[in-house]
Amino acid sequence: MAKISPSYNDIHNIVKEISIKVAKFKPDIIIAISGGGLIPARIMRTYIEKPVFTVGFQLYDKNDKMMETIKKTQWLDIQVIKQFVNGKTVLIVDEVDDTRTTLYHCIEELKKCSTPKNIIVSVIHNKLKLKRHVLTEDIIYIPGKEIGDEWIVYPWDCK
Ligand code: 5GP
Repeated sequence: MAKISPSYNDIHNIVKEISIKVAKFKPDIIIAISGGGLIPARIMRTYIEKPVFTVGFQLYDKNDKMMETIKKTQWLDIQVIKQFVNGKTVLIVDEVDDTRTTLYHCIEELKKCSTPKNIIVSVIHNKLKLKRHVLTEDIIYIPGKEIGDEWIVYPWDCK
């Protein structure tokens, strides 16, 4: 598979562009999907000055093989849901929409346990490929850069 290696500046500039579009919807909270969404969500906070909370899912095992079912590893505290999610506009941030499994499950989980007014989903990269899930029409989807089915080596992956 072809690889691309965006620089930190590339990422920061994409987040800046996304934030202009996202700001129109006036999000109340940023939810970072750990770990890839952590740095993008923090950059987003520079533009969208709202608190960042973290959730986590595991789709790949320790040998980098895709698992049959996605595992929720971290979730929001009930107090956070009451104060920042119910009736509010929620911005979910991840680094990449690949098969869409993670985003789909994160949204499903959020809808199961809370009543947000709006859900915005934003990613740095969206791979233009056949997805495993479709996002429902109520979801405001704001991808940064659209790319092919390439492997992205992010600056934070560098050892
Ligand atoms: P999904 O298939 O659920 O859309 O993506 C699952 C996760 O796989 C992403 O959140 C990300 O951590 C990882 N992933 C998918 N494609 C890439 C890629 O091209 N580069 C990197 N670094 N991670 C990826």
